[in-house]
Amino acid sequence: MEKAILTFFAFWLGAALGSFANAAAMRADVGKKWWGKERSVCDACGRALSARDLVPLLSFVALGGRCRSCGAKIPPRHFFAEIVGAALLSLLAWRFGPAPAFLFAAAALPFAAFHSLTDLYTGYIYDSWAIAMAVCGLVMRLPHGLSAVVDGALGAAAGFAVIGAIIIVSRGKMGVGDAMLMLGIGAFMGLKMTLISLYLGFLAGGAVVLPLLAAKRVTRKSAIPLGPFLCAGMFFSMLFGGAMLYFLGYAASWPWI
Ligand SMILES: [Zn+2]
Repeated sequence: MEKAILTFFAFWLGAALGSFANAAAMRADVGKKWWGKERSVCDACGRALSARDLVPLLSFVALGGRCRSCGAKIPPRHFFAEIVGAALLSLLAWRFGPAPAFLFAAAALPFAAFHSLTDLYTGYIYDSWAIAMAVCGLVMRLPHGLSAVVDGALGAAAGFAVIGAIIIVSRGKMGVGDAMLMLGIGAFMGLKMTLISLYLGFLAGGAVVLPLLAAKRVTRKSAIPLGPFLCAGMFFSMLFGGAMLYFLGYAASWPWI
């Protein structure tokens, strides 16, 4: 029962966070400030959106995907970001229930969504927000003591080192942004879960990219954004990492127990 309520709450929180991360990524794309007072406006008629235009999921459905004033189509990426955010966070709520791991997941998800979307929209991962993600992960570990903070720092270092090594070996197939992103993911996940994240992230990347290569939809020289795959790895690791570690004979460390 408790879990059902949390999952319902997580659905709407996830939709709101997805919406926020998408708006922030789109504004970062066009170089607009997204903090402070600047209001969201309709791209077509410029009307400032009011609270009832901004209810996650419901506004889009109620308005039939069109602007209330001018009837212009609202880009569906807004709706997709909300649906995906809602789905991911409610899955994690169902997985963890009311536990510290859920708070970590809820805090990491908007960062991961933002980084994935800026990477998709612009091919760029913002270092400052990757560092902010790492700081957030480390700070959230403070209440559990020094060993938890050290685990986060080791995760960040390991993630950065693995991608850094790939950058050097592949002579720039992956960008420094991807290594910075792993600082953030590592701080949230801790050492063992970071390694699982990388493994699942590369698996997810291979599962998507290899068929595209085979079908010649992309070439080996195409710039494929890797941030979304690293973030997918983090998400899958949150869901399955504990079980995978158990299978390998290890215990997941706090908070992913
Ligand atoms: Zn409009």
